[in-house]
Amino acid sequence: MNPNCARCGKIVYPTEKVNCLDKFWHKACFHCETCKMTLNMKNYKGYEKIPYCNAHYPKQSFTMVADTPENLRLKQQSELQSQWTGCPRPGTCCRGSTWVTEGDLS
Ligand SMILES: [Zn+2]
Ligand SMILES: [Zn+2]
Repeated sequence: MNPNCARCGKIVYPTEKVNCLDKFWHKACFHCETCKMTLNMKNYKGYEKIPYCNAHYPKQSFTMVADTPENLRLKQQSELQSQWTGCPRPGTCCRGSTWVTEGDLS
């Protein structure tokens, strides 16, 4: 008797079986819950019996969660600041450590 896949519910045959998190998965079904990246026994992270990739594993603190527009903007901003050698483009300038846009310059 072959087990059923925890993701798709279809039978998992031994050649395509992944036994992880107390469940059976098709190799192709064992992917990150968030981004669908295919995982394997070495790189998966289990959380509440669901596999995640390293990037999407739910962490205790969400301070490092990226990909929201605000976080991306902050990240880009800090990257720009760390490599700053002058005003990188028209309409953007810096005042001390604070970036201001042209509209804010008087
Ligand atoms: Zn499956
Ligand atoms: Zn992911």
